[in-house]
Amino acid sequence: MNKISPKDPRAHIKTDRFKACPECFRPKDDCICEKVVSLDNKLKVIILQHPQEQYKQLNSARLANMALLNSKLLVGLSWPNFKIVAGSEEQPSKWGILYLKGNSDKSKPCQVFGRNKKEMENPSELRGIIALDGSWKQAKTLWWRNPWFLKLNRITLNPEHPSLRSQTKSEGLATIEAIALALRCLGEKEEISVSLREQYERLIVKS
Ligand SMILES: [Zn+2]
Repeated sequence: MNKISPKDPRAHIKTDRFKACPECFRPKDDCICEKVVSLDNKLKVIILQHPQEQYKQLNSARLANMALLNSKLLVGLSWPNFKIVAGSEEQPSKWGILYLKGNSDKSKPCQVFGRNKKEMENPSELRGIIALDGSWKQAKTLWWRNPWFLKLNRITLNPEHPSLRSQTKSEGLATIEAIALALRCLGEKEEISVSLREQYERLIVKS
């Protein structure tokens, strides 16, 4: 296994922005654009990326965004409201945000909690999910600066597989792994999460 440990020097390496491919943000001589497999996901995925993550060489959010046809990635620290991010036709009650904490019920791979803190009966009603890309501290900053996150349902994860890398982010998973798990829990086709994990391993972890 070519597993990335916290001591892996790549964990903090950033790509020189002038030498980066404008699509995948990897160094131009290591561009992965042609290798990404597109996936037709039904549940919309929006990734809010902390600016400091943008040029990290192990950035998995950009890959998730490139692979998932129904997704978008926004870089920034704050957005005025939910509709500016998700679209004027969307309702926050139909969206979930990946939450920092793990599951309370360890028998389930994921749980969705409504604004009333009760577990949602039918999480497959969700239309989209928001994932935050950044370290735990950066994600906390995003929560602090975007009070509208509180209007969303919260998705907590209980990863059954250890992360392909040991650098800890929210739930101990890379952003793309957290998205893969959440999509599977919320009723997307199994192939989509399998492919996301496979592409992450092949194009980023082992590259
Ligand atoms: Zn590229």
